[in-house]
Amino acid sequence: MFDLSPYNTFGLHVQAREGLLVRGISDLKNVDAENSIIIGRGSDVLFTDDYDGLALINDIRDLKITQDQDSFIVEAGGGLILDELIEDLLNQGICGLENLSAIPGTVGAAPVQNIGAYGVEIGSLIERVECFDLRSHKVEVFSKDQCEFGYRTSYFKKHPQRSLFITKVVFRLSSLFNPILEYKGLDEDGFSDALKVREKVIELREGKLPDPKVIGNAGCFFKNPIVDKDFALKLKSKYENMPSYYVDDSSCKLAAGWLIDTAGCKGLIHGNVGTWKNQALVIVNYGDARPHEIVSLAKYIQCEVASKFGIDMEPEVRIYGHKGEISWESL
Ligand SMILES: Cc1cc2nc3c(=O)[nH]c(=O)nc-3n(C[C@H](O)[C@H](O)[C@H](O)COP(=O)(O)OP(=O)(O)OC[C@H]3O[C@@H](n4cnc5c(N)ncnc54)[C@H](O)[C@@H]3O)c2cc1C
Repeated sequence: MFDLSPYNTFGLHVQAREGLLVRGISDLKNVDAENSIIIGRGSDVLFTDDYDGLALINDIRDLKITQDQDSFIVEAGGGLILDELIEDLLNQGICGLENLSAIPGTVGAAPVQNIGAYGVEIGSLIERVECFDLRSHKVEVFSKDQCEFGYRTSYFKKHPQRSLFITKVVFRLSSLFNPILEYKGLDEDGFSDALKVREKVIELREGKLPDPKVIGNAGCFFKNPIVDKDFALKLKSKYENMPSYYVDDSSCKLAAGWLIDTAGCKGLIHGNVGTWKNQALVIVNYGDARPHEIVSLAKYIQCEVASKFGIDMEPEVRIYGHKGEISWESL
């Protein structure tokens, strides 16, 4: 059996039948897609059970940087730790990823849900993504457009059955500091360089989010719901301070954290699990939690929000069971 405890930031004591640290494409050549799952550092997954198959842990760590006029083309192995890469690049004067500082996990997982924070989504900085298709056993390259990036989604997230293992992400970054500072908390200071933005982002995140090395969690458990504009306006007339952001002419994004707080779920403690005191959107493992405790609390929160606001929140974390990825509804 292969211990998955170091590969899930909820810190759950779960195992896979087998595990493989993938250091290059040659390690993937004999893998059976039907009986394997792909894992980075498990900061966006909830294992509800032991997994009866092979866990492929991405540990491809190649890095190549070339210059193209004002741009830097950064070809990063999918198993590199994204935050370490960001720090390394900023120290070399290569900017663009600073707002995404301190998001846990690997480079290879980042395009899957098009990670985002402080006004930047990683898809905007990606030139192409290289994958190894575990079914055809061929390399496939996706241009930025083919990645179909959207809010916490991409082609890779929409098509998990394709079993595409992301081996490399190619970024186009800049030597010029072009700060994106509209987000609350970043809009107050002037910043002389991108490293200063990184420091501020880390400080803001530390104030809001629990460190998974200390308290198990997988960041935001639910996505911010996107609802019909008229429905959002109706809610806004009842809850004046409700945050909402236009996505397009007909839909609005609501803040899941605010909905959960207002439904009375901030700082809840149910046995070994709870919602984080500074951010109710984060479910935490306070001790030796079992997977079903996390599921029960998340279902409870989902029901409270649905009965107060009529909104069915969708998990952001990916859910795995005995046979592989499963739907939230099946639990
Ligand atoms: C404290 C905390 C804060 C967070 N903050 C943010 C945030 O601000 N914004 C944000 O967007 N996310 C955030 N997250 C979520 C998470 O860090 C990201 O989704 C991250 O990209 C996951 O990386 P990982 O390597 O841990 O992936 P995993 O959790 O191991 O995998 C996530 C999914 O991606 C798939 N996957 C992983 N690697 C590959 C690969 N190489 N090829 C194909 N599929 C792959 C897996 O199969 C799985 O379905 C946070 C999480 C935590 C714990």
